[in-house]
Amino acid sequence: MDNDYIIELMENLEEQIKLLVELQGLDSQIFRLEDELELIPETIKNANEAFKEKNANLKKLEDGLKALQMTRKDKEGDLEAKEGMIKKYQTQQYQVKTNKEYTALQGEIGRVKADNSIIEEEVIKILDQMDAENKKIQKEKEFLKEEEMRLNEDKKKLNEDASRCKAELEVLKKKRAELAQKVDKNMLSKYERLIKNRDGLAIVPVSGEACQGCHRVMPPQVINEIRMKKELILCENCTRILYIEE
Ligand SMILES: [Zn+2]
Repeated sequence: MDNDYIIELMENLEEQIKLLVELQGLDSQIFRLEDELELIPETIKNANEAFKEKNANLKKLEDGLKALQMTRKDKEGDLEAKEGMIKKYQTQQYQVKTNKEYTALQGEIGRVKADNSIIEEEVIKILDQMDAENKKIQKEKEFLKEEEMRLNEDKKKLNEDASRCKAELEVLKKKRAELAQKVDKNMLSKYERLIKNRDGLAIVPVSGEACQGCHRVMPPQVINEIRMKKELILCENCTRILYIEE
């Protein structure tokens, strides 16, 4: 191998590695943005579902109120029926012939009235409960209104993020395509294979004597070889392309 060839190769390899490092920088940004973009629909879906769950609490409170209203209606119906009974007994009192019958009816009236005062107390209790439930419902509605506003703001921001990601990706992908054209074809296909099989990381610096892809410590001889830039040096552990940051 003559000297000129070695120099030519060195310069070329140095240049190629520079291009690959630049390409890796763009690819890492592209992957990060693609990941971010991919997560957005899921995040929106989760936010919608969380909001729906919060609405379930309101539904529960409203169902509770409905049940109270029904109990109240039943009790009031009960009261009305018993008032009717009292009126009926009172009418009968005018028609009875004996004192005994009159007193018996009076006793019935007393019992029904006693029942009614218990039911009336129960109705008052139910009204108090309904009042408390209504307050809770009001509070929950206010809470949900704020939550909905927050949800809509979040969704707006996420959609803006998605648009930003898409715009940035478009620019980066264009830059990447231009850059990839400058890379030696064999080098590029090696790089692409590594990108695919090594979690999107094909070329990594050696820092503190360790491969920054897998953190395996390199022997000094390998580090020297990388410095010499005579040939492409791969990590013996993760097979990524190694370089030393200037
Ligand atoms: Zn490695």
